[in-house]
Amino acid sequence: MKHYDVIVIGGGHAGIEAAAAAARMGVSTALVTMRPEDLGTLSCNPAIGGLGKGHLVREIDAMDGVMGRLADQAGIQFRLLNRRKGPAVQGPRGQMDRALYRAAAFDRLSSQPNLTLVYGEVSALTGEGRWIDGIVLADGTSFSAGAVVLTTGTFLNGVIHIGDTRREAGRWGDRASNGLADSLRRLDLPLGRLKTGTPPRLDGRSIDWSRLEMQPGDDAPVMFSYLSTAPTVAQIACGITHTNEATHRIIRENLSRSAMYGGQISGRGPRYCPSIEDKVVRFADKSSHQIFLEPEGLDDHTVYPNGISTSLPADIQQDYVRSIGGLEEAIITQPGYAVEYDYVDPRALDNSLRLRDAQGLYLAGQINGTTGYEEAGAQGLVAGLNAALAAQGRDQITFSRTDSYIGVMIDDLTTRGVSEPYRMFTSRAEFRLTLRADNADQRLTPLALRLGCAGDERRQHFARRQDRYMAARKMTESLRFSPTELQRAGIHTRLDGQQRSIFTLLGGTDICADRLAGLVPDLLDLRPETLQQLRNDALYHQYADRQARDAEILRADEAIDLPQDLDYARISGLSAELRAKLTAARPATLAAAAKIEGMTPAALTLLVAMARAGR
Ligand code: FAD
Repeated sequence: MKHYDVIVIGGGHAGIEAAAAAARMGVSTALVTMRPEDLGTLSCNPAIGGLGKGHLVREIDAMDGVMGRLADQAGIQFRLLNRRKGPAVQGPRGQMDRALYRAAAFDRLSSQPNLTLVYGEVSALTGEGRWIDGIVLADGTSFSAGAVVLTTGTFLNGVIHIGDTRREAGRWGDRASNGLADSLRRLDLPLGRLKTGTPPRLDGRSIDWSRLEMQPGDDAPVMFSYLSTAPTVAQIACGITHTNEATHRIIRENLSRSAMYGGQISGRGPRYCPSIEDKVVRFADKSSHQIFLEPEGLDDHTVYPNGISTSLPADIQQDYVRSIGGLEEAIITQPGYAVEYDYVDPRALDNSLRLRDAQGLYLAGQINGTTGYEEAGAQGLVAGLNAALAAQGRDQITFSRTDSYIGVMIDDLTTRGVSEPYRMFTSRAEFRLTLRADNADQRLTPLALRLGCAGDERRQHFARRQDRYMAARKMTESLRFSPTELQRAGIHTRLDGQQRSIFTLLGGTDICADRLAGLVPDLLDLRPETLQQLRNDALYHQYADRQARDAEILRADEAIDLPQDLDYARISGLSAELRAKLTAARPATLAAAAKIEGMTPAALTLLVAMARAGR
C-alpha cells in the first residue's frame, strides 16, 4: 500500500493550501480530490479578498502560501476597499477569472515538489479506534498516512435547495460526500448543520450594460502577493444596478416558496451575506439594494450578480431578475440555490486544528463552520503545516491573536465555536492597528523561514524588502528638524521648540510627503511600498503603544464578575445582535462574555464600565 506522510482530502481552498504547505515542509504529501477541475474552484463569488479577508490572503502569502499568487495571476479587477479609512482596515480585493484561477491552481500544484495529485472519492478513513492512519477510495484503492487533513467543504451530507425542490449534492454539479460522512460517524464528531446560498448566474450578452453605472478597478492595483508586481491579464469594469419596489414585491409575495423561508432548511445561514429574501424581510424599510454585476472571466459570458443570492424557485428568480434595471431581458444560465451541509463544531479541535480526541486527523475550511475561500485557505495552511510537523515528529505551531488574523480566527473557532457560518472582519482583531495587510510579511515570514515552509524566492525577496525598510526607518528616525526649519520648508507644526523626526512627520495625515521630500530629497529614492509602510507605521506608532497597554488592562478586567441581573436590552452602544446573545447566555464573568461569538473589544469595554458602575 502506498504511504504518504500527509494526505489531504479535498482540492478546494483549504485543501490546496494544506497540501502545498505540507509539501513545502518537505514531507511526502498526497492531495486527493474528486476531479482535476476541483482544484481552485471558486464555488460562489468570483472574487478573493475584501475587508478582513484580504488580510488573511496577505498572511497566507507571507507564509509562502499559494492563494495570493493565484489571485494575482487570475485577477481581472483589483480594488483596495476602505481607501478612505485608515490603512489598518483597508482590504485588498480582486475579482477573478474563474477559469484562470483554476488553471493557475492546477499548474502550481502539479509542479509542487513532494506533492502527488490523486483523483477519486474518499469513501472512508482507516485506522484503529480513534487513530486515523489512512484512507480508502470509492474504487477500493487504499493509502496509508502519517496524518490526514480533511477539507471537504459543503460536501458532507450536502443538500441543495431551489424553492421546494431538493437534492443531495455538495454544490451545483457535484455529488455529496455521503460515504465519507458515514465513515466519520464512528468518530462520533460533534456535528451541526449550516447553510449558505448563491445567486443565479446571468448571460452577460442579455444584459443592457449601456444603462448601468460601470465601476473600474484601481488605477494603481494593489496586489495580494508580496512577490507580484502588476496584473498579468486584461482588466475589466463591473456594472452596478439596484433592486426596486417591484423586485421586492415579487420576492415578498413568494416568500413561502423560498427554501429558506418555507421551512425546508434547518441549518443557519451567514447573517453577513444575507439572501435577497433575507434582505427584503430584515430591511423592510429599504426600497432598493445595490447589485454588482461581475463578469466571471475574460472568455466567459457568465455574470455573477453579487447581492441577490436566493433559494426561491427558478421561475420566481426569473421574474425578480427581470424587474431590475438593465436586466429586463436577462437570461439565467444557472439558478441560484442554497446548500445545507454538516459541519464539525470547531471546539472539538485544538489550535493546531487537530481533532482533540483522535490521533492523526486535522480539519480545515468550511467543514469547521466557516464561510469563504480566504478563511478556508488560512485554516488549510495551519492544518497542513501541523500535519507535516507531526509527521516530522516536531512540535505543533500555533498562531496567536497578537500576531495575525489567522491566530484570531483559529482562537475564535476553537474557543467560541460558531452559531452561523464564520467570516473574518477587521473588528474581530483587537490588535488590528498592528495586524495590517501591509506588514503581514514582517509579522509572519520570519516564522515561515524558521519552520522551513518558505522557499528561496520568498527568503531573498523578504530580505531585500526588510533591508530597504530598516534603512529607510533608520534614516527617517535620525533626521530631525525644529519647527522653524520645518516652517521654512512649508511644513507647519506647533511652534513648541521640539525637534521632530521625519519618521514622526510621515505619520501626520495632514503633512504632504512632497514637502518632506523637499527637505529630505532621499525620500524620493524610496520605493512607494517602503514609503507607504513607513507612513502606516508612523501613523499608528503612538496608538500601537496605547493598544498594547489597553490589551493588558482589558486582560485584567476579564476577571470581573458581571451582575446576573444586568439588563443588556437597556445598554445603549451594544448592537442588537450582542444584546440578544448576552441576554440568552447571561455570562457570569467578563471572560465568559468575551467568548461569545461576535463579541467586540468595544462592547467588552462597555460591559466593564457597567460592571464597575454596579448596574
Ligand atoms: P470547498 O471549496 O467546497 O472544497 C471542498 C473540496 O472537497 C471539493 O473540491 C470537493 O470535490 C472535495 N471533496 C469533498 N468530498 C470529497 C471526498 N469524499 N473525496 C474527495 N474529495 C472530496 N463563501 C463566501 O465567502 N461567501 C458566500 O456567499 C459563499 N456562498 C457560497 C454558496 C455556495 C452554494 C457554496 C457551495 C459555497 C459558498 N461559499 C461562500 C463558500 C466558499 O465556496 C467556501 O467557503 C470555500 O470554497 C470553502 O473552501 P473549502 O476548501 O473548505 O471547501
